Amino acid sequence: MAPEAPKVKEAEAKPKADKRVNCLACNKVVKKLKRYYRNGKYYCSKKCWREFIKKSKAEEKK
Ligand SMILES: [Zn+2]
Repeated sequence: MAPEAPKVKEAEAKPKADKRVNCLACNKVVKKLKRYYRNGKYYCSKKCWREFIKKSKAEEKK
């Protein structure tokens, strides 16, 4: 006799993968389709990623 398995709704079981993220360079909301992911951070495009790298390197040099 197997006990009844609790029913889990599919929607609740899914992890929240599509929460909104902002681009670190221009601070716009990054849409899922356009997401550019580098080093654990999100950018809206490769251009913004490169800009952010430039900025952070310039700050390190102080
Ligand atoms: Zn951007």
